[in-house]
Amino acid sequence: MKSIEENFRCSFCGRDKTEALILIAGIEGHICEVCAEQAYDIVREELHDKVPSVGDRKFTLPENITPKEIKEYLDQYVIGQDEAKKFLSVAVYNHYKRLRQPSIDDVEIEKSNILLVGETGTGKTMLAKTIARFLDVPFTIVDATVLTEAGYVGEDVESMLSRLLQACDYDVVAAEKGIVYIDEIDKIARKGDNPSITRDVSGEGVQQAMLKILEGTHVNVPPQGGRKHPEQKLIKVNTENILFICGGAFVGMEKHIANRLNTNVIGYHTENEERIDTDNIFQYVTAQDLKAFGLIPELIGRLPVITYLEPLDKEILIRIMTEPKNALLKQYKRIFELEGIELHMTQGAIEFIAEKAIEYKLGARGLRSICEAIMTDAMFELPSDNTTKKFEVDLRYAREKLSRSKLKTLKAA
Ligand code: ADP
Repeated sequence: MKSIEENFRCSFCGRDKTEALILIAGIEGHICEVCAEQAYDIVREELHDKVPSVGDRKFTLPENITPKEIKEYLDQYVIGQDEAKKFLSVAVYNHYKRLRQPSIDDVEIEKSNILLVGETGTGKTMLAKTIARFLDVPFTIVDATVLTEAGYVGEDVESMLSRLLQACDYDVVAAEKGIVYIDEIDKIARKGDNPSITRDVSGEGVQQAMLKILEGTHVNVPPQGGRKHPEQKLIKVNTENILFICGGAFVGMEKHIANRLNTNVIGYHTENEERIDTDNIFQYVTAQDLKAFGLIPELIGRLPVITYLEPLDKEILIRIMTEPKNALLKQYKRIFELEGIELHMTQGAIEFIAEKAIEYKLGARGLRSICEAIMTDAMFELPSDNTTKKFEVDLRYAREKLSRSKLKTLKAA
């Protein structure tokens, strides 16, 4: 090695050893501390892989979790839906186990992307969101209806990865173990009697475009989403370890399921046949029904875990309103508490709200709008009234406030 006594210079800026604090030797030349720092900045910028500074979020997967622990966590936030929770916990557990396990032989555990089938407002998005929070991995929700195949107006399929990157401040490494929830996957069904389908051809095109991404591939992602523009720098993302959870209401698929079940029943000993629970027909969903509905077999193949969510009955809606950690009623109580007022809602009023949510067919989402309609007057009046320390919402009050609200708009929603 040459001695530092010789007149070495930084090969980038030309500073010699008298001007530079440090000169790092390479095979052919040297680099000074200033140029090394600049080079580091360029590399970081190019890769969009911002190294987390102090205080930035680091996405680290929890160690040694079990499917039971995942389910217990979900139980704190999501009421009922035991079957979906169990399937989801196992799928997520296996997914991240696979991620930790370097492959030692030819046995490669395949990715277990998940399909959640269930009416709107039954907790599909909430399940996906809650699981991502538990795992502390980047998470994003995309609406399948805005995705179109290349050449059509809308967003490229790759844009769902742009959202994931945005969710973790372009930390590519974190994004590559994140979760993408694709909502309304049923709306890109190919064809069929589904009333909501308006664009058969492009729907299938989107399904085709999704295949590779769901399976695992290197995708060039436009950082800002939207269409790929030639001048936009693309970020390479490997989707092999990204978990995709798809959800859809699959309105009209009940018919396919029922038809299939009836056909099955005819050929066998009907008297021994298990009774079909027609109130919750989605529990019998299979890949066959999804195909009949209009999902292409290749897409179904990439969603190996299929599970369902139960319709919410009155009892579950009441529990949703009162039990979870951030239950609606707990939130209202807190809002009033901050004004120094103790809020009490009678059982009659709670039941009334649940009944109305069912009537409006809004699922649990309706609870919030109904509660707002009932509580807004009180939330408007009470902060300027220093004398009230207790406030009770009973059935009469709830009924009266709701009847005066824009009930019709709720019904139409
Ligand atoms: P979906 O995705 O099935 O249409 P969401 O998950 O968006 O429905 O649910 C809408 C809202 O309803 C959630 O934000 C949550 O407050 C509430 N909710 C729905 N289902 C449940 C449930 N099983 N447990 C607790 N809250 C629920």
